Amino acid sequence: MSTLIMKFGGTSVGSAKAHAQAVEIVLEQSREWDRLVIVVSAMSGVTDLLIKGARTASQGDDQTYQGVVKDLRTRHYRVVDELLDGSGEQAHIKASVDQYLDDFAVFCNSIHVLGELTPRAMDAISSFGERINARILAAILRQQGLHSEAVDSTELIITDEKFQNAVPLMDLTRKQIEKVLIPRLDQGEVPVVTGFMAATEKRVTTTLGRGGSDYSASILGVCLDADEVWIWTDVNGVMTSDPKIVPEAISLPLLSYNEISELAYFGAKVVHPRTIRPVVEGGIPLRVKNTTNPKHPGTLIDQNPDLGKSTVKAVTLIEGLSMVNVEGRGMMGVPGIAARTFAAVASQGASVLMITQASSEQSISFLLPMESVELVLSALRDEMVLELARKDIDKIWSMDNMVIVTAVGAGLRETPGIGARIFGALAEVGINVIAVAQGSSECSISLAIAAKDAEHAVRQIHTVVLDDSGG
Ligand code: ADP
Ligand code: ASP
Ligand code: MG
Repeated sequence: MSTLIMKFGGTSVGSAKAHAQAVEIVLEQSREWDRLVIVVSAMSGVTDLLIKGARTASQGDDQTYQGVVKDLRTRHYRVVDELLDGSGEQAHIKASVDQYLDDFAVFCNSIHVLGELTPRAMDAISSFGERINARILAAILRQQGLHSEAVDSTELIITDEKFQNAVPLMDLTRKQIEKVLIPRLDQGEVPVVTGFMAATEKRVTTTLGRGGSDYSASILGVCLDADEVWIWTDVNGVMTSDPKIVPEAISLPLLSYNEISELAYFGAKVVHPRTIRPVVEGGIPLRVKNTTNPKHPGTLIDQNPDLGKSTVKAVTLIEGLSMVNVEGRGMMGVPGIAARTFAAVASQGASVLMITQASSEQSISFLLPMESVELVLSALRDEMVLELARKDIDKIWSMDNMVIVTAVGAGLRETPGIGARIFGALAEVGINVIAVAQGSSECSISLAIAAKDAEHAVRQIHTVVLDDSGG
């Protein structure tokens, strides 16, 4: 029995025109596969607006969220008016849009009164975009004659209680999918599942992190033992770089799981980084395709694709980082210093994106999101108070406004001197590399550089090194 999971991202369902294209694609694939499951994101920009409404309410502003309600009603009604005929379905879906927006306003009002916004409330609120959109898409599909219903993933994906970045509990999730989704599929239904959101065992709404609908699709893929998972987005698959930064970027027909993992982890937001693990475990091919150009093959990500001769395949960028440095000539004599350093970082819930050790000095440096740097610095200074007093550690400090630029390609491993070529290309245009690290899978090289050089560095590596390596 053939099974396909297709996820439509925000821009693929961001307007009536985009919805109509997505519907065409679903109809076509519904004729090809025995089982088809659709995962849908909120319309583009909707999650941002919901979060903004909640944040401003918590800061004492009771106007912004009301404006958001109006905006969102107009945007969703426009799609409903254009794509659903005046039958009962149209009125029914509009009533459901109203209901969700009313609930959103009630939540924001309570947040305004209490002056407090918890991660738990944020998850309840930020899931409304997916709830609404799944209903709209399922109704359009019904109108086209498909047996389709919206299914809230709170019924399917069960997670821990780490609100805003929840971790799925796979055994419970499998059980729910068996109980709720499989009977629907057995009846020939094409379910439209809400991406991004999930629930705890007690059915409290959680979310899988921003951009997490891709992850929802791969979780469903592995639990349903799908043949393939397709991510529909607004570009021709995974490209040699973000086309918004490098207009000459071209799409990559084939990537390995390792390559996509590095790309996603180091900033290629076209696929959410957590998407990869379930498909690797299930050995499920993942395709990334363009909703506005469905005939384009996009990118196929698989276990062992023909890797070709290229070394560097793509260049990515993560912005908004700080580099923390722990340095001092005496520190290498202190046992367990690295372990204590990272334990102090972890105690603040901060995620470290890159770690390096400078060779000229005795130091440990690492990059993390700029917003966590103050907490991390004070946790480190507390932890190392004795070492600082004894001058084993001279200072603990940070450089702000940093980025990580990463070159990714499975061929990097076998190609000596690639680092030198990257440095050469950057030196040519006067860009200073502050730190370097090699990815654990050895298919990436990451450079820490100043934010002012970020886009220039990406374009320079793209032009000089990718072309050289045949990527
Ligand atoms: P969706 O709403 O479909 O989930 P996203 O905005 O999350 O879409 O991801 C698609 C965007 O990712 C593209 O529009 C592009 O700007 C960006 N992007 C960043 N790096 C890459 C890359 N290497 N290849 C393709 N797109 C990339
Ligand atoms: N709508 C959610 C977000 O904007 C999830 C997603 O788009 O994948 O983060
Ligand atoms: Mg996305």
